[in-house]
Parts: sequence; C-alpha cells; structure tokens
Amino acid sequence: MIINTHAHIYPDKVAKTIEDITAQQFGPLYSSFKVSSLLEDMAKYGIETSVVFCIAERPAVVKAANNFIIAVQDNKKLVGLGTIHPDFEDYQQEIKRLRQNGIKGIKASSIFQGFYPDEERMLRLCQELGEDLILYLHAGEEPGKPLAEARTTPQRIARLLDLFPKLKVVAAHFGGLHMLEEVKKYLLGRQLYFDTVWTPEKEGLDKKEIVYLIREHGTHKILFGTDFPIFNTKEQIEWFSSLPLSSEEKEMIFYKNAQRLFEI
Ligand SMILES: [Zn+2]
Repeated sequence: MIINTHAHIYPDKVAKTIEDITAQQFGPLYSSFKVSSLLEDMAKYGIETSVVFCIAERPAVVKAANNFIIAVQDNKKLVGLGTIHPDFEDYQQEIKRLRQNGIKGIKASSIFQGFYPDEERMLRLCQELGEDLILYLHAGEEPGKPLAEARTTPQRIARLLDLFPKLKVVAAHFGGLHMLEEVKKYLLGRQLYFDTVWTPEKEGLDKKEIVYLIREHGTHKILFGTDFPIFNTKEQIEWFSSLPLSSEEKEMIFYKNAQRLFEI
C-alpha cells in the first residue's frame, strides 16, 4: 500500500495555465494538475491515498482554492490541505472554516508565496493552526531557481519549532532540498516530519547517506511523496524502494506514518 503525501492539484479550468507557468520554472511536467490525471496515476501505481493541495499565490484566490479542496477531498482517497496566503487578512476565520470542513492543515510554499517561515506573518498563522492542524512546508532550495535565495531553510524551520513546539510540521524534501548538511545541523531528530520528494537528479543522492538520515531523524517521521504532477511517480517509487531499508521501515514510510499523521 502507498500513500503519496505530496500532490498538487488545481481546478480543470486553470490547470493548463498553471502547467505552462510551472513548466517554465521546473521544465516539462510529468503529468497534469487535473484531479482526473492524479486519480488515473494513483490507480496505475497502486496509490491508495494522496494528500492534495492547491496553493494560493495571492490573497484574492485563497477562498476559491480552499473551496475547491473542500469539494474534492473525502479524507480517504484524497486528503486535502488548505492554503492561506500570508497576506490574507481574514486568516483566522478561514482556518476555522477549514477545520470545520475536516481539512487537516495547510500547505505553505515560499516559492509561490514569498515568505520566511519564521516571520511574523507566518507566526500568526501557526498560532491559529494550534496543536491539531498540520503545517506542510516546502523546504530548502527553490527547484529550477538554484541562484534564488532559499527562504524556507532548515535553520528557520528549527526556529519555528522552538517557538511552536507542539505545532505539527512537515518539511518537504527531507527537510531541505539541496541543503542536507543544514538539515543535519538543525533538524535531524527534532519533532517534525520530512517527505521523500527529491528532484530528478536524485540519483546523485548517496543511498547510504539517505538511509542514515532517515534513521537518525526517526523512521516514524518520514512520509513518502512524489510531488505529482511535477515528478515521475514510477521513478520516485522505484528510487525509494531501492533504498537499503528493511521492509518494516519501508511500510512505515510508504503509508503507516501518513495514516497516523493524517488520521486516514
Ligand atoms: Zn510540491
């Protein structure tokens, strides 16, 4: 069984436009942002559940993005995370609405929303998320923009954890895309989850080092994700399966940890 905790979706009517914009930054996409494409892909690779998000790049689209997620999620096949742009004024009400609609947390990405995780605009959101809602962060370098400043760094995430020790945090990309030395220094072993999404050049990652990182951090705090539709699902599954981990460890990461965290 597989749960993919990292999948992006958009309403059909805007999917194509967003695909074009994303492709300019990341290169050609593996698939489309449409829900129907995700469901087909899940069926093809035996993915039982996907955690899905629709990130609002400006405050004006927050409500529409959340309406879409609330409508498609069923907390079974599709588990939805909401979105709050850091400049969205009515964030308290909106987080309340997400909670009332069974949404498990929010996805926040400094790539598309231009924030630092430990700045005031984010801290007030974290306050509102409380101890029940999840904050799922992009972490590390901005893919496709290697020269851009990484805003969600392991060090800043660590500072957020110091301020909100009970906040449920997931940091994508093993805690920091292309920043694993900093991950080791600031995040390893701390109370947060990492996902396994890495970029296509992941083959260059040393498998023994990744296994070391997983075990030092705690195998129970690692989630399997693919970053659909950006990266190839089959490649991500095969790469993760090829790591020298025990079958018990793989089961935890492929679905058991996600079942527990997202209450699936
Ligand atoms: Zn992503």
